[in-house]
Amino acid sequence: MKQTEKVGIIYDDYFLEHKPFYSHPENPNRLIAIVETLKKYGLWDKLKKIDIDDIEYAEVEELLHKVHSEDHIKMVESLKGHYGNIDADTYYSPETSSVAFRAAQASVKAVEEVMKGKIERVFVLARPPGHHATFSEAMGFCFFNNAAVSAEKAKSMGAERVLIVDFDVHHGNGTQEIFWKRDDVLYFSSHRYPFYPGTGRFDEIGEGKGKGYTINLPLPRGLSDGEYAKLYEEVLVPVIEKFSPDIVIVSAGFDAHYNDPLADMKLTEDGFAYLSHLIMTSAQKSKGFVFLLEGGYNLEGTAESVKEVILTMMEAKTPIRSDTLINIDSILYEAKKHFKIWME
Ligand SMILES: [Zn+2]
Repeated sequence: MKQTEKVGIIYDDYFLEHKPFYSHPENPNRLIAIVETLKKYGLWDKLKKIDIDDIEYAEVEELLHKVHSEDHIKMVESLKGHYGNIDADTYYSPETSSVAFRAAQASVKAVEEVMKGKIERVFVLARPPGHHATFSEAMGFCFFNNAAVSAEKAKSMGAERVLIVDFDVHHGNGTQEIFWKRDDVLYFSSHRYPFYPGTGRFDEIGEGKGKGYTINLPLPRGLSDGEYAKLYEEVLVPVIEKFSPDIVIVSAGFDAHYNDPLADMKLTEDGFAYLSHLIMTSAQKSKGFVFLLEGGYNLEGTAESVKEVILTMMEAKTPIRSDTLINIDSILYEAKKHFKIWME
C-alpha cells in the first residue's frame, strides 16, 4: 500500500487541445499513448490523481513573470484563437496559450504537493513541453518553461537549493538561460551535441554566482544505457551529494530512446528507468521528485519508457544497470575537468 501513496500523477484531457494543423511529432497522440499504456498495465488506478484547479491563475501568472519577460507572456496570450507558427518547429492552435498556461499550472501544483510533504513523487503528463522556452522566446515546441516555473514555486515555498535534471536528448537552452546567473537552481543536462538547439557545451557553466551551477554533458550520437548509467553515476551523483537539493525536478524527455525519429541515441526503457532510479536514490534526502514530460516522439518508445519510470518511482521494480559498450573515457575526462568543484 505504501507505494500507491508515494507516487502521484497529473493529467488533464485539456492538454490534448494543443494540436498541430499539419503532421508534427509533438502532438496529442503522445499523451494518449502514455495514458493507454499505463491503463493497459494496471498502473493508472494505482497512482494518486492530483487535481490542479486549486492553484490560482494569479499565482501561475506571478511565477511566469519570474522566468519570462512581460512581452513574452503577452505574445503567448496573443496567440489565443489562432493557428500559426512561431518558427519552423513550433506551431500553435487556438487553445495553445491556455494549454501552455495549464501545463505550467500542473507543474506548479506538483511541486506544491511535494513541498507540503503530501506526496514524494509526481509525474506530470502535460504538454506542450517547456525546456526550450527562454526568458523571452517560444521555440522548439515550447511556450512556457514548466521546469523553471516549478523551480520558482519550490523557491517560494522555502526550498533553498533546487536541482533540475534534464535527460531529454536536446539541450534545455531555455532552462539554462533562465538560471544562468543563479546558484540556487542547479541545471544539469545530458544531450546530443552538436544538435538542436546548438547550445550545451562543457564550457557553458554559468556566470557570476551561477558559475559552476550549470552542468552540461554534450554527447555524441549512439550512446546507450550503459554509457548513460556510467556518466550519471560519475558526474551527476557527486553533484547531488555535494549540492544536496531540497527538491529535484526532472525534465523527462524520452527522445534519446532508440526508436525516436528525431535523435540517434540508443537508450531503452530500462535505461530511462535506471537513470530515474539513480536520481531518486542519490537525492533521498530531498523532499521529493517532480518529473515533467518534455520530448519523446516515438509513441510506443515514449509510453513504455514512462511506464518503466513510473514503476521505478513506485519501487515496484528495480531497474537493470547495463554495461558500457562504447568507450566514454574522453567524455568523462572532459566532465571531470570542467566540473572539478563538484568532483573533489
Ligand atoms: Zn527533446
